[in-house]
Amino acid sequence: MGELVVDVAIVGGGLVGTSLAVALAKTQLKLALVDSAKPPASTPSWDERCIALNDGSRRIFQNLGVWDALSAEAQPILSTHISERSRFGAARFTAAEAGLAALGHNTPLRAVGGVLLAQAQARLQAHLQWLCPARVTALALDTHSAKLTLDDGRIVAAKLVVAADGASSALRSLLGFTAEVRDYRQSAIVTAVRVQRDPAGVAYERFTPDGPFAVLPKPRLAGDGEAGHPCSLIWTLPTARAEDLHALPEAEFIAAAQAAFGERLGRFLDIGRRIVYPLQRTVSESLSAPRVVFCGNAAQSLHPVAAQGFNLGLRDVAMLAVRLAEAAARDADLGASTLLADYAASRADDRRRTADFTDQLVRLFSNRLPVLSQLRHLGLLAMDLLPPAKDAVLRQNLGHSGLSA
Ligand SMILES: Cc1cc2nc3c(=O)[nH]c(=O)nc-3n(C[C@H](O)[C@H](O)[C@H](O)COP(=O)(O)OP(=O)(O)OC[C@H]3O[C@@H](n4cnc5c(N)ncnc54)[C@H](O)[C@@H]3O)c2cc1C
Repeated sequence: MGELVVDVAIVGGGLVGTSLAVALAKTQLKLALVDSAKPPASTPSWDERCIALNDGSRRIFQNLGVWDALSAEAQPILSTHISERSRFGAARFTAAEAGLAALGHNTPLRAVGGVLLAQAQARLQAHLQWLCPARVTALALDTHSAKLTLDDGRIVAAKLVVAADGASSALRSLLGFTAEVRDYRQSAIVTAVRVQRDPAGVAYERFTPDGPFAVLPKPRLAGDGEAGHPCSLIWTLPTARAEDLHALPEAEFIAAAQAAFGERLGRFLDIGRRIVYPLQRTVSESLSAPRVVFCGNAAQSLHPVAAQGFNLGLRDVAMLAVRLAEAAARDADLGASTLLADYAASRADDRRRTADFTDQLVRLFSNRLPVLSQLRHLGLLAMDLLPPAKDAVLRQNLGHSGLSA
């Protein structure tokens, strides 16, 4: 079998790998995209979840020319309401105070994946080779390229390999890199729920003694029916408790969820399929190796409490695409160690800040110690009453600080 020679080989066709392909469409570079799933649209990571895209991601998608196609399926979040069960007081963030039309958009993962895939196919055509399903089994370097061996025997030679192969990155293992892994011993139950009262664009996050419980409005899709208001539900719990709840009959699960969330949106009318995600944080020790860079979950995968994971990964993509487009315009080596080191350095602050912000939130809100309960309460009040505290959190949530890095 012959060797396929490309400029950039992207390993992983999840949201991050596909976003990078779209972001590189204008460069005329020759790309290969390797994914173990077939076809890429059925990649297991594009499940029935919705993800909250923050304003920074909207801007990036707008610059990539994909936002118009996506916005029809994106539910604007006009404000967020963060509270703690059994305590008075809540922190509220509104789009109006941020001077925006929306703080973010809750969007079905499949819609994001579908739009990216269609755009990559339409814009890249012969510039992009899809190598799916295929797994990378070996990585070797020569003077001018990195060579990937796939499990079907094909060899791909690329000036640069981008590892976008998710939290358990095979490329990270092949390189012998370690990652700092923190098992939160928590899992998230994710499902769709129809609620009695219109959330009117408000995303609710309620901290309970077991963990955070979020209900976000989602777009009404074909087949959703007319009754009630469709929302996404994400309930984080200690893993054993999540498994017990997952196994309950629907009516009992709804009763337990209703008790944890309260009646703010009226009754939960019905729910969709429940999926349980074990939660851990994985941060790769390094963002680059000779002719290899890491992006998205392969670089860092975070707890979903602050809805930062893909938003951060998309900022990796935007930064890498700019660096590669500049290098391509100068006809420079795309795998040059200076370029890769520059990319890694440019992402360091944002990665650290976002990972720490998320981690602190998990620790603060997953602890039953009375002193932390008091701190949480003060934290929520401070966010509501003190503009500097609120601004810092708002900036992080909007994803604007990462864009200016
Ligand atoms: C419950 C939950 C809720 C979330 N909510 C949000 C949110 O609201 N907002 C947000 O920004 N983020 C959210 N996230 C995070 C977000 O889902 C991820 O950050 C994002 O999907 C990661 O995309 P990725 O492309 O980097 O990785 P993945 O989606 O994991 O894609 C990796 C791809 O690589 C392929 N692959 C793996 N190994 C190989 C191999 N050896 N060879 C070839 N291909 C391979 C896989 O098939 C897959 O297609 C949430 C996560 C969870 C679990």
